[in-house]
Amino acid sequence: MKKVVLKKKISQRIGRGHPWIFANEVETIDNEIKAGEIVEVFFYDGKFVGKGYINTRSQIVIRLLTRNRKDEINEQFFIDRIGQCWEYRKKIGYTENCRLVFGEADQLPQLVIDKFNDYFVIQTLALGIDLWKSTFIKALQEIVQPRGIYERNDVPVRELEGLPLQKGFLSVPFDPKIIITENGLKFYIDIENGQKTGYFLDQQANRRAIEHIVKGAEVLGAFAYTGTFEIHAASYGAKSVLGIDISENATRQATENAKLNHLENIVRFESANAFDKLKQWTKEGRLYDVVMLDPPAFTKSRETIQKAITGYKEINLRGMKLVRPGGFLVTSSCTNLVSPELFLQIIQMAAMDARRKIRQVVFQTQSPDHPVIWEIESTHYLKFLILQIL
Ligand code: SAH
Repeated sequence: MKKVVLKKKISQRIGRGHPWIFANEVETIDNEIKAGEIVEVFFYDGKFVGKGYINTRSQIVIRLLTRNRKDEINEQFFIDRIGQCWEYRKKIGYTENCRLVFGEADQLPQLVIDKFNDYFVIQTLALGIDLWKSTFIKALQEIVQPRGIYERNDVPVRELEGLPLQKGFLSVPFDPKIIITENGLKFYIDIENGQKTGYFLDQQANRRAIEHIVKGAEVLGAFAYTGTFEIHAASYGAKSVLGIDISENATRQATENAKLNHLENIVRFESANAFDKLKQWTKEGRLYDVVMLDPPAFTKSRETIQKAITGYKEINLRGMKLVRPGGFLVTSSCTNLVSPELFLQIIQMAAMDARRKIRQVVFQTQSPDHPVIWEIESTHYLKFLILQIL
């Protein structure tokens, strides 16, 4: 097997268990290495680090798959790993709909597999994992017997690896608009054209966290997408719910979902820019018992982090102003570039500017089918906060 030796002075990150090796951390690479090939990695002093896949075209040259020298990286290795992923989801009770494989957190870097009852959506976001795609299909067939598999590799990060953007069936074609059940409610999912893999599974547990605070409440939800939080609020007993999203397509889907659950008399959706509407409605003196915010990641790079901070502060400030005294703000942030500590600081600044006192009710992260590895920052990305606004 080809060898890679790391530089003498590198950060402790790799030693502590982080699976990525950057180009500037590499001292030597054996000749004639093929992109995507499995290599053995050693520290400068000759100590074994692990085995992983390499792509010299990418800034992240190697992503480690194992720290165990005895592991042979072959088809059976990946089938076993996916078997372990499934065992874990069964243990924590996330089986019907779940993220079956959460990349780095499941020791399968850059592989994402979402399970929507009997349908599976795959993303292989680096060349070295993309090469094993047919093995993943085989693993799914052996372990969970899918009714259908779909590839959502229309993700721009693939370009950094020299991979094409593509999507399509990896099984016999099926109707890509499916229905799932979450917490007893039904949702249409558009596997083919929906955002990301079609549905945000990472908020499953957080949607349950609003159960009590929305009873009898007038609720506003911004960044509703397919209306999952809003429809949960309606079914948990809210008096009325208004959901807004800038995308007309999302609003249409959300409205369909409300009908699917016979909740269309309680919850309705509008297409609008949340920044404009929340500002306008504050001026008009509107008030709600619960305001829910689930904005997209306002930035994807560290260079423009300030943009994200400004966006989160602005929207949370507007949200707080719309909450009746004693009501609740339910607010999320899904970028790992904003740490939990920074997120709370932003919220605190927003509260000061809004001149409102706040109490933390719930502060948690994504659902446990997206486990967090403390050494790998990017696995700890979602912040979910419920505040009481006094
Ligand atoms: N709450 C959803 C996920 C929201 S994803 C769920 O649980 O499934 C973020 C959403 O914000 C996207 O649907 C996107 O269309 C919407 N969005 C982005 N910018 C917006 C803006 N300025 N105003 C309103 N919605 C916006």
